[in-house]
Amino acid sequence: RLPKVVIIGRPNVGKSTLFNRLVGKRVAIVDDKPGVTRDRREGHAELSDLSFTAVDTAGLENEGPETLAGRMRLQTEAALDDASAALLVIDARVGLTPADRHFAAWLRTTQVPVILVANKAESNAAETSLYEAYELGLGDPVAISAEHGEGMGDLFEALAPHI
Ligand code: GDP
Ligand code: MG
Repeated sequence: RLPKVVIIGRPNVGKSTLFNRLVGKRVAIVDDKPGVTRDRREGHAELSDLSFTAVDTAGLENEGPETLAGRMRLQTEAALDDASAALLVIDARVGLTPADRHFAAWLRTTQVPVILVANKAESNAAETSLYEAYELGLGDPVAISAEHGEGMGDLFEALAPHI
């Protein structure tokens, strides 16, 4: 059984884009517990010589704001079970949001190694929020562009010790 890496973050940061880049066409739709991890997708991911099961967490986009935090937590808990690492994705162009801080605070309490991934970092405007990202207390952010395939070498180096 392959090690599992869970992709976590608020809606629209680029989780699915990163998942698709790592997994390509090797995707399986997972039959989830209703209301908990709906729309979760798993796939066989490859990054350089690393081979792992990537889990794309989704299905929160249609939730009302009052239930979002609770749903995120439930979903994250379910997906993190047995994970070798979690990738917390933030949007480097937007900067930190309360939802990002919520995820980070909660992830810091788990035993799973967390890699902070600052996506959409192909724009020059991303530098300020990269610096800001250190506030999350999850170490050096790995700057990537999931859409353009940039930063995959840095992501490999961050992930390799945990796989
Ligand atoms: P998710 O909700 O976290 O799964 O985010 P998606 O993967 O659906 O992406 C949300 C939006 O961000 C889409 O319009 C993507 O095309 C865009 N996006 C994803 N990755 C990048 C990136 O590296 N750079 C830019 N500029 N846009 C991106
Ligand atoms: Mg998605």
